[in-house]
Amino acid sequence: MARQGQETGGVTRVGIVGGGPGGLMTAYRLQCWADRPLEIVILEASERLGGKVQTGRFEAAPVPYEIGAAELYDVSPIDEDPLKDLVAELGLPVTGMAGQAVELDGELLANLDDVESRLGRGAREAVSAFDRRSRGRMSPRQFYDSDLCESFADEAEGGGFGRFMDRVEHPGARRYLDVLMHSDLATEPRATNRRYGLQNYLMNDADYMLLYSVDGGNERIVEELVRRTRADVRLSTRVEAVRTREDGGVDLVTAKETFTVDHAIVALPHGALGSVRFEGPRLTAAMAEHVAHYDHPAHYLRVSILFERPFWKDVLHESFLMLEAFGGCCLYDESCRSADPEYGVLGWLLGGDAALEHDALSDDALIAAALESLPPALAEGRELVLEARVHRWIGAVSALPGGLQPRPVELRHRPSPQDAPGLHVVGDYLYDSTLNGVLEAAETVADHIAGALATR
Ligand SMILES: Cc1cc2nc3c(=O)[nH]c(=O)nc-3n(C[C@H](O)[C@H](O)[C@H](O)COP(=O)(O)OP(=O)(O)OC[C@H]3O[C@@H](n4cnc5c(N)ncnc54)[C@H](O)[C@@H]3O)c2cc1C
Repeated sequence: MARQGQETGGVTRVGIVGGGPGGLMTAYRLQCWADRPLEIVILEASERLGGKVQTGRFEAAPVPYEIGAAELYDVSPIDEDPLKDLVAELGLPVTGMAGQAVELDGELLANLDDVESRLGRGAREAVSAFDRRSRGRMSPRQFYDSDLCESFADEAEGGGFGRFMDRVEHPGARRYLDVLMHSDLATEPRATNRRYGLQNYLMNDADYMLLYSVDGGNERIVEELVRRTRADVRLSTRVEAVRTREDGGVDLVTAKETFTVDHAIVALPHGALGSVRFEGPRLTAAMAEHVAHYDHPAHYLRVSILFERPFWKDVLHESFLMLEAFGGCCLYDESCRSADPEYGVLGWLLGGDAALEHDALSDDALIAAALESLPPALAEGRELVLEARVHRWIGAVSALPGGLQPRPVELRHRPSPQDAPGLHVVGDYLYDSTLNGVLEAAETVADHIAGALATR
């Protein structure tokens, strides 16, 4: 069958649906790796590129804060780290992040000695036993490979992460561990599997992963990708339907125009796939099956507050701590990226059921609840508020990335390889719900398309 590109004088046309990090990373990598110039069009429904990577600024003072993704994950101590390499390639300076403290009953527990003095010897032993069990179940190497592995032993055993957690019988230890992990999981332990639960526990361990963020805001990644990518970017252009053509091309249908391309990359979060019509009986069925496999929504809510000054610096010395409020909530010190910040910014990241339940509250009520959750040592902050923002991310991430049974990588990205060989999907829900995962997806697809072009 003649390919579109061959028909039109050898120019290969690539259409990318979604201008979030996944779409932008795919465009950039394709441009770097293809052995010929491409015509790339990026169709983005909203008025901006970047999706859930967005750095906001307050009105009262132009201080930056993260609206979506706040931390990047560094796995370079174990093996290659494509995200770290990309950030370096884009020339972006970064700052390390860390946080060990967990707040229970208003007190900060910074280490196992604190756990013992606050919760007793039994709690310390139970936390240590959980840690040994977790590390025994997943080595740093297995952690690194876990998103690629189709048959991580735990899935066969069933029971999920809730069952694994239930083995912690000491109530104080269980409370401590629940608070430590809840915000990162964005779901409840019962709603995810052991693989993802262990990933989220072990990410607190420097043997497995380090954390960092981009100085000036993570959105700088988006800005640099856009600056380096030659593409026809169409903002406010929602793709409503996708259909394959007899000649092997793909039509991307928007309200005003249809874009015919040789390769289409649907770089949407799982929750947005359902709003696109995938036409033709076999493609409709294949995409419905794809959507059903990955249908495990998880939730976040972010409350970000600008204060007259970083009043917490004597108490909070790290980039974040875990609060007991909201079932376990990460409190970020957003000012930690500035050496001598004039103002202070704290960000509360509510996850899972708490995010879903609190979504019913008004912004004012949420801001009041966030301030109320400050431990006694930080209570003075309630009098120092300059401005506050709320960002709601209900159903925006995956509670069980990869699905219950992760699929072989070659099957993840092409839901209908026979009927729609030119249609690829990219998304963090295929890997681990992170930017590392979405880059993995983007590079896999870019590599596949560049390889196919090279053999023509
Ligand atoms: C609150 C929060 C905190 C997070 N924290 C972290 C973190 O600390 N570290 C980390 O690594 N990851 C984090 N993540 C996850 C990270 O943001 C995602 O992995 C990443 O944004 C996924 O990129 P994406 O391009 O697949 O999707 P998105 O970022 O969602 O981008 C998709 C784009 O597609 C557009 N779109 C939707 N429908 C259509 C359509 N029909 N046609 C055209 N365009 C469309 C959207 O407008 C959007 O711009 C967090 C996410 C949230 C919500």
